[in-house]
Amino acid sequence: MIIITDGLVIKETNTKENDKVITILTRDRGIIRAFANNAKKINNPKNNATGLLAYSKFEIYKGRNAYSVNSAEVKELFLPLRSDLTKMALAQYLCELTGELAPREENSEEQLRLLLNTLYFIAKGERCTRTLKAIFEMRSMSLAGYMPNLVCCDNCKCYEHENMHFLPDNGILVCGSCLKLYHQQAVFVGINATFALRHSIYTELNRLFTLTLDADTLNIFEHTCELYTIKHIDKQLKTLDFYKIIRT
Ligand SMILES: [Zn+2]
Repeated sequence: MIIITDGLVIKETNTKENDKVITILTRDRGIIRAFANNAKKINNPKNNATGLLAYSKFEIYKGRNAYSVNSAEVKELFLPLRSDLTKMALAQYLCELTGELAPREENSEEQLRLLLNTLYFIAKGERCTRTLKAIFEMRSMSLAGYMPNLVCCDNCKCYEHENMHFLPDNGILVCGSCLKLYHQQAVFVGINATFALRHSIYTELNRLFTLTLDADTLNIFEHTCELYTIKHIDKQLKTLDFYKIIRT
């Protein structure tokens, strides 16, 4: 069976001299691992189109036990990412996280749009990368079925509280007055970071990346989103460790 779909290469693994296996987040079928034989030959048209972070139109053959790339045509290479080590490290973390969270054999239009948009803004360099990373984490978790409930305090249902806390284990908000009723880990978020967290999961994609935050709010927002993600992934992601070492 032949599948024609757009997709972003989120991982590449070398096998033989000119061959590799690539992991693609496809629009129509979620995550696909496919052989790309001869793709490493310089003069092969598949070379660029099957490289890490290439967004391409793929023609993929689905055999009985494996997928293989028949042809691939580049649509976007995100070139500005490739000359900046920190941006590249962040992009690779977003790819690894997507590999953990995105579905298999299912339409992944939303995950793909989220990743492409985030990479676009990181490459462009006009928006705060720390904010982009945090938004991406929270939004990806939500798309993967880990959407927290950030509407109001879990107990008294108040919407705003200057002493609002987020409980990462349950993915809920609890206000300062009700906190004594809960015994899990709680992270102080206050009013502004509560707004940022809500924005990251409830806002439509076309307004998602408009968020701008002051330094204190960004620190809280960034910490909370990463903590929530790592807690529920329950796995050490090497690309996140690397990004945290080299980011300034
Ligand atoms: Zn309350």
